[in-house]
Formats: sequence, structure tokens, C-alpha cells
Amino acid sequence: MSLHLEIASCVRATSKFSDCSKCIDACPESIQLVDNLPSFANNTGVEAASCVGVCPTEAFSLSDFSTTEFFFSFLESKVRLISPKFNVPCISVLSVEHLISLALASEEEITLDLSSYDDTSILYEQINARIEEANFVLSSFSEKQLVSNHIAEDVPKLENESEDEVSSRRSFLGNASLKGVVRHKMTFDEAVEADELKTFALDVHIIAKIREKNLPDKRKILFTTLKHAGVPDTFEILPEEEVSFTSQKFVDDTCTNCQICYRICPTGALSSNGKFSLINFDSMLCVKCRLCHDVCEPNAIQLQSGFEIKEFFEPTQRTLATFDIKRCNECGNNFTYTGGEQACPRCMLEEEEAMFLHSNALSMKALFEEKKEDE
Ligand code: SF4
Ligand code: SF4
Ligand code: SF4
Repeated sequence: MSLHLEIASCVRATSKFSDCSKCIDACPESIQLVDNLPSFANNTGVEAASCVGVCPTEAFSLSDFSTTEFFFSFLESKVRLISPKFNVPCISVLSVEHLISLALASEEEITLDLSSYDDTSILYEQINARIEEANFVLSSFSEKQLVSNHIAEDVPKLENESEDEVSSRRSFLGNASLKGVVRHKMTFDEAVEADELKTFALDVHIIAKIREKNLPDKRKILFTTLKHAGVPDTFEILPEEEVSFTSQKFVDDTCTNCQICYRICPTGALSSNGKFSLINFDSMLCVKCRLCHDVCEPNAIQLQSGFEIKEFFEPTQRTLATFDIKRCNECGNNFTYTGGEQACPRCMLEEEEAMFLHSNALSMKALFEEKKEDE
């Protein structure tokens, strides 16, 4: 079993300003940055599987193990044990979203077998942290919890599944969509500056894939299981730092409507309209990759301090900012009007430069005439 990285899905390939290091932090021994992109040796195997579970965009995967396929085959099986001795190469391949979804979708309690791990290792700590986060989030709206345990004895094998079962699950996933939010809200043609991508020597095929906006399967699974979970009577608000896989945001008044964040967001969580006169945000599409924060020069986009669980059950598109778009009196292009003369920043700059050159020419002329008089 080997590790695979779909570089087009990595937010570092989308922008050189991305500071994402989740995979490197998870597997520092195996994954390093080379030319600002994650890189690993060809023989890197499942010992580095923690990067698979932690990557917000599912850029990492394993050659012979699909977390999406596992989700369905596990639920179809009768055993409620997840163990590296039995059905997963490593528990760390599963993300917090997978763990929450599994707990929600299973009638019976699920046990995670940690007996294969050294309880002083970083990997053990990471797996425990994910289970704790999953249980914390679950406890805010459900009675269900995951159990972690040390199982010593041998466990049974899964039966093979039929092709029909696999394809019916695929169509189930294909149909999973967020009410009114999984859609291409704008063309992504200009979303990523090709020149910026070329600095990483990415080929045209990869650049085209980056331009697509994709919601990871794990998010589709989570959304689908949430739709079948009971709606709680009251909705809790969890501390932002306790939820690693999604977020709520606000935009402050330092925003210049440079358009970068909503053009570059890999999932379409941030979007705008045809006139670029607003910033919309769908929390259930956000994978907390932080790319929008990394590219925002004035730091105008910020994380809300609390995450509202209500979003899981009643996903809404919120408008984070609106802008007054006017046509420039000089060049006729639309621009974000902030008051004063109705001219776009480029024309204003050109006018300033022209005035500077003109006043320079006048002083040169005056100097020249003064010198001539002296002679
Ligand atoms: S965690 Fe995923 S998105 Fe982030 S740097 Fe690694 S591969 Fe890229
Ligand atoms: S929030 Fe930041 S990146 Fe997004 S449009 Fe405003 S200034 Fe640009
Ligand atoms: S809104 Fe920001 S953090 Fe969320 S997916 Fe988009 S770029 Fe990533």
C-alpha cells in the first residue's frame, strides 16, 4: 500500500500564499516541503497515513484503501470495531468528519482499537485528539459517542462485497448535495492566476484541475449522515478552536473587495455574484483550509469565535460583505466604489502619475529658464 498525493487538490498548489502544513505537522518524518509543496519519498507507506485523515481537501490518499468505500463497507458489515488488525491500515486515515459520520450512521456503538499504537507516540496522540474532537462535536447534538479501547484478541474478517453494492453507494454519494449550496456560483476561469501557478512548474492539466471547485467526499458523507440525524431541541455554539474541519467567518471593513478569497476558495464556500458586489459564505462547504485567510492582505476575513451547531441542520448562505460597484468615468470598467471621484483605482493611479510627471516637467522647465536667465 502506498501513499498518493493529488497535487491539484492541495491548497499550496492553488496559491503560493497558502500556509497549510497539516500533513507535514501530522507526518513530519515522511513529508517535507519541496518548492513550497508537500513532498515524500516513493516508498512512504501507511506509517504516514495520518496525513490522509488530516488533509482538509483529501489531497492525500492510499493506493489500496479508500476512506469513502470503507465508510459504506463498515456500515454494511456486522462488526462495530475499527482496528488496524482488522479493517483499516491505520485509524489515522479517518478524519474527524469520518468518525462523526460513522458514529451517527451506526445503530450500535463503535469501538476504535488503539492496542496497536504506542501510547507515548505522536500518532497515538493524533488519533486520540480526533476521537475526542468527534465525541465533543457529537455530544453537542447527539447521544452517540465513539469508544476507544485496547482490544488484544483477533477479530473476524469482512466478507467481499458485490459490484452492485459499490455502485449503489457511489450513486448515493453523487446525489448527496447541500440544499442550495453545492453549486457553481460563478465561473472559475479567472479564479487562479495561471502565472502564479506556473512558478511551481505545474502543467496545464493540473492547473485546470485546480480551477475546479470540489467538495471532498468526507464532507458529502457528513452532510448526508447529518440529514438523517435527529435535530436537537436547542443548538449549541462550540468554541471555534475545538472544531478543526469547518468554520464560520466574518469580514471586517478593511476588506477591499480584491476578489481573491472567493475566487480561490477550493470548495466554493466563499462566493460572489456576477457583479462581484458581495461576499457569500456557506459554512457547510468550508473545510477550514485557511486559504482565504492566507491570501487576504488586509486580514479582513476572520474566524468567528464560536461555531453554531445550527449550521449542521439548517445550512445557510450568509452574506459577509456587500460593495457598491460603479462604472469608472474614465475607462468604463466596474470597480468597488468607496466614495469621492467615480474613477477606478487604476485610473486614479494613472492620473496621479500623470500629475506627478506634469509637475516634474514644470519644475524642470522653470529650472531651465532660471539657468538661461543667469547666463
Ligand atoms: S494538508 Fe493537504 S492541503 Fe494542506 S498542505 Fe498538505 S496536502 Fe496540501
Ligand atoms: S476579504 Fe480579503 S481577500 Fe477577500 S475580498 Fe476582502 S480583502 Fe480580498
Ligand atoms: S472559506 Fe476559506 S477556509 Fe473555508 S474552504 Fe474556503 S478557503 Fe478554505
